[in-house]
Amino acid sequence: MSWHADHAFTVTISGGSVAGLCNAIALRKIGATVKVHERVPGPMMARGAGIVVQNELIGLLEENGAGPLPFTSCRGRRYLNPDGGDGVLQDMPQEFTSWEAIHAALRAAVPDQCYQAGSEVVKVSQTGSKVLATLGDGSVVESDLFLAADGSGSAIRRKMLPDIDARYAGYVAWRGTLDESDVPPDLLPFFDNLFTFSEARCGGHMLAYFIPGSDGVVTRGSRRLNWVWYVHVDAADLANVLTDKNGIRHRSSLPRGTAPENAVAKLRARALREIHPKMAALVSETRDPFLQTILDVTVPKTLFGRTLLTGDAAFVVRPHTAGGTAKAAYEASVLARALKLARANVDVALQSTERLQLEHGNALYQYGLALGNRWSRERATD
Ligand SMILES: Cc1cc2nc3c(=O)[nH]c(=O)nc-3n(C[C@H](O)[C@H](O)[C@H](O)COP(=O)(O)OP(=O)(O)OC[C@H]3O[C@@H](n4cnc5c(N)ncnc54)[C@H](O)[C@@H]3O)c2cc1C
Repeated sequence: MSWHADHAFTVTISGGSVAGLCNAIALRKIGATVKVHERVPGPMMARGAGIVVQNELIGLLEENGAGPLPFTSCRGRRYLNPDGGDGVLQDMPQEFTSWEAIHAALRAAVPDQCYQAGSEVVKVSQTGSKVLATLGDGSVVESDLFLAADGSGSAIRRKMLPDIDARYAGYVAWRGTLDESDVPPDLLPFFDNLFTFSEARCGGHMLAYFIPGSDGVVTRGSRRLNWVWYVHVDAADLANVLTDKNGIRHRSSLPRGTAPENAVAKLRARALREIHPKMAALVSETRDPFLQTILDVTVPKTLFGRTLLTGDAAFVVRPHTAGGTAKAAYEASVLARALKLARANVDVALQSTERLQLEHGNALYQYGLALGNRWSRERATD
């Protein structure tokens, strides 16, 4: 399908992660010719783990014939405190998946000819209503619309909004997964079928839930137990915390398998002092915990001519909202719907998309801030 008699509507996307792929799927469905450029060569290695399933993502997958997305489910929540005991139960069914499962479902819905791995976008400029994207190999791609889905460190956002940068939120997430077969037998029934939370003695909290196995299998025995522990780290110590076992300093995360042994040993000892003993046991049993810093990004605008920021390139919301991937899916659906309705009037469609993005992004950002600040305040009053 072509929007104009003489040419198809063309879209170039930088970033082949969740936001880039959500947009590629939604825009192809309305007839656009899409090309995703992802700078990582070859398959994407999962740096993350569990993700709470949200309706926006399921809706995008279903509307566009993508998926199915493997997921696990629980019947409710368990709230613990560091002193031990079985905690308080609350009925609240929820579903969980993993970053790998989401990426695999999205990637499978984008044909190979629309996705170029190992291709970095190094520059973007606009001539009339065309956007010119210069790639790492020096070639220039022309399109009607350019989407910057290049993540929280977006080079395109920094070029368009040089005063806006990702701000460190004051704490990090230590994360880990245990294959179900490695979960000690006494812990398995305690965590099964529940989304478990434990307050930490010096502020912060830890959570745990089952997710699909790394191959997407969700049958009992093949799942993984996923945990996240939010830990305060002074900004002055961040460089040290982000230095891996080979002395390499990372920008915002320590990938799986790179954390120094002494940092992991300290984490395990701290867990024994500060969180519920069964949660601490998960930390002790996990071979290779990894770390992500919690960042805040907000923007006053997302639209620059025919270039639109989307996903984490636009707003990075706190993980307590469980809303990063859902926001990416929402933005892709909004853009596709606006373009479909406006047809020839692309700029009107982009302006209405920007309005909705700012409204949704700011609301989610504020919600995440309130959730995050709640435990920061608790820590300050300890
Ligand atoms: C590997 C990985 C694992 C993750 N795991 C989790 C998780 O477990 N739980 C969770 O809540 N969130 C996780 N996230 C974050 C989550 O996916 C995002 O909040 C959300 O899905 C939106 O992401 P995004 O696509 O906007 O940005 P990102 O996922 O950060 O993707 C940006 C992409 O752009 C590419 N890129 C950057 N610059 C360029 C360029 N110049 N040219 C071309 N490509 C470029 C990057 O390589 C990257 O693939 C993960 C992200 C990644 C990349």
